[in-house]
Amino acid sequence: MQFTDLGLSAELLRAIGEQGYTTPTPVQQQAIPHILAGRDLEALAQTGTGKTAAFVLPILQRLTHPLIGQTHNQPDTPLQKITHTAPRVLVLVPTRELAAQVLESVRTYGAHTGLRSLAVFGGVGINPQIQTLRRGIDILVATPGRLLDHLSQRTVDLSKVQTLILDEADRMLDMGFIRDIRRVIERLPKVRQNLMFSATFAPEVRELAHTVLKNPATVEVARRNAPAELVSHSVIKVDKEQKRDLLLHLFAAHGWHQVLVFCRTKHGADALTRKLEQSGVRSAALHGNKSQNARTRALADFKSGKLAALVATDIAARGLDIDSLPRVVNFELPNVPEDYVHRIGRTGRAGASGEALSLVSSDERIQLRDIERLLKLDIASTVLPGFEPQHNHSVPRPSAGRPPAHKPAQARTRSGTGDRSGAPRPPRPARSGTGGAKPASHHSGQRHR
Ligand code: AMP
Repeated sequence: MQFTDLGLSAELLRAIGEQGYTTPTPVQQQAIPHILAGRDLEALAQTGTGKTAAFVLPILQRLTHPLIGQTHNQPDTPLQKITHTAPRVLVLVPTRELAAQVLESVRTYGAHTGLRSLAVFGGVGINPQIQTLRRGIDILVATPGRLLDHLSQRTVDLSKVQTLILDEADRMLDMGFIRDIRRVIERLPKVRQNLMFSATFAPEVRELAHTVLKNPATVEVARRNAPAELVSHSVIKVDKEQKRDLLLHLFAAHGWHQVLVFCRTKHGADALTRKLEQSGVRSAALHGNKSQNARTRALADFKSGKLAALVATDIAARGLDIDSLPRVVNFELPNVPEDYVHRIGRTGRAGASGEALSLVSSDERIQLRDIERLLKLDIASTVLPGFEPQHNHSVPRPSAGRPPAHKPAQARTRSGTGDRSGAPRPPRPARSGTGGAKPASHHSGQRHR
């Protein structure tokens, strides 16, 4: 299937062509016809699948050509073609970064439509947003908190919204936005089209879908960046106190660049960034306490290759659009195994192979086990000479369930000399099956269970 088969208008096809895209991704193929037909939609699709264009393209089309793509058997209220000043489409997103990225997509694909769009999110001045809203827009992308600010100041009018999109609904719920979302929805017209995109169909997501969507079409796509297929996972076991030195060592030994490093906390991300910078590794932290300008700059510098490392927390990194990142390092494992999947969704995109390396200390063994279960993989683990852990890493395994996949790494006594001069390589991607380092202990194979 080609984009030209979807019944999209000439100005959209032109913008798509300018991006160099010819073939719609699976979520685009499946979702676009339903959205064009005016149906509600529930879509299970992660970042990296092309989900943004899957809703942006048909929404642009319905705003500019309300009748193209309509099917006869679908009852529908076509979007009005009158020029409104109040937005007719509202996209709710969990984070500022995602808001900026969705807006960028709206403007890219809508370049030849003449439609006006705006993103409102916190962390930046509200006045420029108010001025743009006053001039009139067609599509509003918003984080729930800032949108409620605008609603309470009466600087936005949602009474003309004909389509509501909840993007990354699962993450909005994780971030505690459920009440905000409901308060926003109360201000929308009752008759409207609703689209919900989520990476999971967790029970809370289902409940939200149940109350918001009317007779929705359902679309479910496999991850484009299926972690087991495109990403090589590996683990280096190391004591917590040694992690920073080990990471520095890996940067120095391999001349790494463009590495996205994940920490669990903002404080931890700041501390690690300082340490990397002090050691000459150009780095910036990306987390919720940074001003919007600092975050935008960090991301731009990282994308352009000025920074060797971007040290991020889970929420800040959610939905980042960075294509084909060669490597993601989990400096600390996430508490929620699904976050591991989100983290590594930054690498191995668009068919490129990527590497996800986790530095795992003994207190994280349960998280590692949960991640392995979620991925249905045994992840190869190594110990690097000079960084051997002193704490026991063995995981208490339930007697039922999967058999022990490997001999747990032995708690070894650090030799003290540690052959670091030989620049040991990090463990080779498990997929290749051949160890690159001479690990002190390892089990081979990123095996599917
Ligand atoms: P998303 O899942 O919306 O975050 O999109 C992931 C990436 O895929 C973005 O960089 C898009 O620009 C890109 N993309 C979207 N649609 C297509 C397509 N049909 N072909 C190739 N790349 C695409």
